[in-house]
Amino acid sequence: MKLVSVDCNHCGAPLEVGETTRFVTCGYCSKRLAVQRTDSAIYTEVLDEIRQTTNQLADDMEVIKMQNQIEQLDREWAMEREGYMVRNKHGVKEPPVTGIGAVIAVLITLVAIVFMGRLFMEVAGGSSMEALVILGVAGFGILTVATAVRKGQRFQQGKQRYQTHRQRMLRDLERLKRR
Ligand SMILES: [Zn+2]
Repeated sequence: MKLVSVDCNHCGAPLEVGETTRFVTCGYCSKRLAVQRTDSAIYTEVLDEIRQTTNQLADDMEVIKMQNQIEQLDREWAMEREGYMVRNKHGVKEPPVTGIGAVIAVLITLVAIVFMGRLFMEVAGGSSMEALVILGVAGFGILTVATAVRKGQRFQQGKQRYQTHRQRMLRDLERLKRR
């Protein structure tokens, strides 16, 4: 077999390797070497370094992938959030009522219904048409508030889900970057 000369990439010692040899151990420093060939050159690389570079590249790819996933999550939430927005009386979009706002909305509705109930009693002598109108308005009020409160709940749940998911991804990303 024809031998070719190549230097150890670690200690610089001259080595003789077969024309098709892919791996060799340096007789001077005992490093495991990979024999690399290009069209015009032949050289060696310390094996551990190759593995490290490969691992580093894989980690970098993983980091980029995860950053993309977080951006994707942000975009998805922005779209979902848009669906929960309601227009206020000035026509400006804002998040639906949640928490204390929802409680106040329910209370106001209850007060309104009681008030209407009393009004109903007072006009009880009147036609059943008036009673029907009052009941209709009360029913519509309840439905409107219930819908708004439900929307607020779904908004809160969606936001929580998004934040939990995002935090978990950020933790994974930090762990990956520290590696
Ligand atoms: Zn060597």
